[in-house]
Amino acid sequence: MDTKIFKTSEQEIGEAGKIIRKGGLAAFPTETVYGLGASAFSSDAAKKIYEAKGRPSDNPLIVHVCDKNQICDIAEEIPDGARAVIDKFMPGPITIILKKKQIIPDTVTGGLETVAIRFPKNETAVRLIKAAGVPIAAPSANLSGKPSPTKAKHVIKDMMGRIDAIIDGGNCEVGVESTIVDFSGEKPVILRPGGVTYNDLKEHGIDVEIDKNILQSVSANEAPKCPGMKYKHYAPEAEVTVVEGEESAVREKIKELLDGVHGKTAGVLTMCSADYDNAVILSAGSTNKEYAKNLFSALREFDELGVEIVFAEFCEKDGYALAVKNRLYKAAAQRVIHV
Ligand code: AMP
Ligand code: MG
Repeated sequence: MDTKIFKTSEQEIGEAGKIIRKGGLAAFPTETVYGLGASAFSSDAAKKIYEAKGRPSDNPLIVHVCDKNQICDIAEEIPDGARAVIDKFMPGPITIILKKKQIIPDTVTGGLETVAIRFPKNETAVRLIKAAGVPIAAPSANLSGKPSPTKAKHVIKDMMGRIDAIIDGGNCEVGVESTIVDFSGEKPVILRPGGVTYNDLKEHGIDVEIDKNILQSVSANEAPKCPGMKYKHYAPEAEVTVVEGEESAVREKIKELLDGVHGKTAGVLTMCSADYDNAVILSAGSTNKEYAKNLFSALREFDELGVEIVFAEFCEKDGYALAVKNRLYKAAAQRVIHV
């Protein structure tokens, strides 16, 4: 299939919106990561998303809306906590899970009776949803299992020839996917940490729990609350090991680990531009917020540079720590050394 590459002119966004309205697939930027969009009202279009990504069909999609009223069209009821999230944090990098209305096909929700809803802040995303005239179901626009795309070139690498169009709208600001809060059970639970942090929610009087699987893998006999939790995620070709703790101890440990690497190309993802010998060094930025923005892009860059073993420094600095650790631990298949 021929994949059209669009920029963000009125005419191009209009054309991409038409592709989605007619049942096709278009990738688009959001403030978190690039999404792979299809009409949220079309079961056939949703199926195409799973095919293009190689995504298991029980891993549901997030439905993107462009105004708060649209939420009532697709969700059965809105509890007080969810209403507070909508009022305080939307548009923004947060997704709420609510009981779904019939209009959302089961294919979009992976067979669940609930629907994940997000109102993005990114201007291009909002213009596209408006142009499509329907809510847009979209997971991240990467091949299943790979790091999420934060630049148009990542989407082009994974999706060229597999989808109808890609809108190049520059780099994503937040860099990790939205915070997901499930409001469909008795107590609201954060299923995935992201740009809106636990403390942000608490400061606005929104009481939530944090799912225990956020920093560990789901065991084979356990049913994950968020279907995506049980699948391989964010995995680059390189083998990643996280070294976590106080800065100087982390640096010492990585030096020792690098000494033990023989015959393979090693890389370090650093928070403090440390001077390691015999390693390809990429910067994650000095804060966890910067780390979130740079992480997926760096993982992809290590692969491009032929790096086979990556040591990722991690020091806790700010509210983004949980969101970064969640992705980093998964990218490292839980290989984490605490020093
Ligand atoms: P991605 O688009 O790659 O960020 O994936 C969307 C995430 O939202 C996946 O981890 C899904 O499992 C999760 N998700 C979507 N809909 C639901 C839902 N109804 N209940 C629980 N998790 C959901
Ligand atoms: Mg994803």
